[in-house]
Amino acid sequence: MIESFNPATQQMLAQYPPHSGDEIEQRLQRASQTQKRWAALAISERMLLLRQVAATLRDNAGDYARIITLEMGKTITESRAEVEKCATNFDFYADQAPRFLQDDVVPSSASDSRIVYDPIGLVLAVMPWNYPFWQVMRAAAPVLAGGNGLVLKHASNVPQCALALQQIFLKAGLPEGIFTALMVDSSAVAPLINDPRIAAVTFTGSTPVGRMIAAQAGQALKKQVLELGGSDPFIVLADADIEQAAATAVKARFQNAGQSCISAKRFIVEESVAQAFVDAFCHFTARLVMGDPLQAATTMGSMARLNLRDDLHAQVQATVAQGARLLMGGAPLEGKGAFYQPTVLDHVTSTMTAAREETFGPVAAILRVRDAHEAIKIANSTDFGLGAALWTTDLARAQTLSHEIEAGSVFVNGMVASDPRLPFGGTKQSGYGRELGMFGLHEFTNIKTVWTGPNRPA
Ligand code: NAP
Repeated sequence: MIESFNPATQQMLAQYPPHSGDEIEQRLQRASQTQKRWAALAISERMLLLRQVAATLRDNAGDYARIITLEMGKTITESRAEVEKCATNFDFYADQAPRFLQDDVVPSSASDSRIVYDPIGLVLAVMPWNYPFWQVMRAAAPVLAGGNGLVLKHASNVPQCALALQQIFLKAGLPEGIFTALMVDSSAVAPLINDPRIAAVTFTGSTPVGRMIAAQAGQALKKQVLELGGSDPFIVLADADIEQAAATAVKARFQNAGQSCISAKRFIVEESVAQAFVDAFCHFTARLVMGDPLQAATTMGSMARLNLRDDLHAQVQATVAQGARLLMGGAPLEGKGAFYQPTVLDHVTSTMTAAREETFGPVAAILRVRDAHEAIKIANSTDFGLGAALWTTDLARAQTLSHEIEAGSVFVNGMVASDPRLPFGGTKQSGYGRELGMFGLHEFTNIKTVWTGPNRPA
């Protein structure tokens, strides 16, 4: 059974039998046929329907937000913002996709040569639970805009979100089968990748699973985009606005109860301002209100599963045993629910567990460094390379340093965030390929050269 379970109350919400082989086959067949009709639609018609998806999301935002919160424990305020962000993404592609998909005429020896962006077919999306609407819709908008169809294998702990997402496309008037949510567990993924109707794979999740999916897709010679784990550095140089940096740092670490790939996870601070930063960071952390995620006043909800909380606690205990100083939190909350106290670890070094591994929960690791040079060296001393934040008032220096940081994005005097207008993705063990913006749309198109010689009528 695929179970919908409320992590904040430990209550079972619903159970779904997994789709049988026949049910999967039926859905794939319909998806494949629908995609061909969808690709043949005029682009203006497709864009009109994408706009309807945005409107449907907004019209039912309260209901969708509630499902997100009930299934994975984030606050209702965060869930509402997530739904709105999905709508913004659909509006963005409805506005911009016609431009991104326009032929590019390139002068060559031909009388006409151009690059065209054709659909590729069905894209399999294997997705995580941490932003159960956004992760899926971030991929779905460009995939559909490009004339493709999407087949979703969502994380097993968010089946109601998967079904709600499928319903949104029907409600918005898109043809049945253009977005298909399969109720399957992870054992169904390899056969799906091998299915000839699946043209490509987009995966968001952990690095070890990404590696497996990449191997399977590679074996089947299918294009893949991998959005994997991260241990983003948040670098604070001595000339930074410390108060502002600390306030942003707390948001960057604890939003979504710390369960974001682009959460700041390692706070790398120049020694001369480290104590001021730590004091301000603890001050803002103490203001977080943890509790019932359905209450508007709550600012930090539950983690998504008890086992994830227990794994996080083990990482904290290991880091303390290795010599880090525990300043706040450091334990699960007593009582029901997968709550974990906002935790601050100071004097962490780059060899300790909380700096070496991804901490996917509300735990901040503070590393004190001599200077900017050492800060960059430590920031890069990780297998991951997703995002990075850099705080300094010397903007010219920030531009130089940003080239030295091994990451898919660098945010100067801000927190790392995704934005439909800008490409998103990682380097190193954080994956490859890009989502969002023009690059995200082109990933799942056949970038085709059409070369035409001189026309000599017979
Ligand atoms: P996960 O365990 O890798 O799961 C992600 C998806 O993969 C789920 O749908 C899961 O299905 C499926 N899966 C698990 N094992 C599989 C296997 N052996 N074969 C095929 N599919 C398999 O990741 P998670 O714990 O849900 O998510 C947290 C991770 O995702 C973190 O590392 C985080 O940094 C990363 N993440 C990255 C980004 C990004 O954009 N770079 C964004 C969000 C999250 P089941 O649920 O059925 O196991």
